[in-house]
Amino acid sequence: MQTRTLSSRKDIVLVAHDNKKNELIEWAFYNRSTLSKHKLYATGTTGIMLEKALDQPVTKFLSGPLGGDQQVGAQIAEGKLDVMIFFLDPMEAQPHDPDIKALLRVAAIWNIPVACNRATADFILTSPLLNEEYLAILTDYSFYTNRKLKM
Ligand code: PGA
Repeated sequence: MQTRTLSSRKDIVLVAHDNKKNELIEWAFYNRSTLSKHKLYATGTTGIMLEKALDQPVTKFLSGPLGGDQQVGAQIAEGKLDVMIFFLDPMEAQPHDPDIKALLRVAAIWNIPVACNRATADFILTSPLLNEEYLAILTDYSFYTNRKLKM
């Protein structure tokens, strides 16, 4: 069985669409003491706002529409991010919608906890698993690569 160990100090990435940025910042500020125990990452603009609000370093990727979501997806595929908090705007199409779809797909492949709204983010942040080591069970997709190698 393929697994990935998430350490007790998590690598948490935070992203918010423009209409959801204030909500994410407010949520993060409310939860600043919990978040301070973990390492934070974010897409460009979200990261600048978070750093200011939390007074905590945030590793910033490019802005989402400029490739930041794809960078986050790549980090997930490489096992470098453990949790994603992504406050999506359900009411407005984004220029980078294909990137967002790809990011959510990669997060599903690598079985990382994802919150797309505030209630789920609350559940993740208050889970005892956030501050413990966690063994994520990965689906075995070797079938796909083996099949291609036989072609
Ligand atoms: P931003 O990107 O943090 O740079 O605004 C977020 C997004 O829209 O994906």
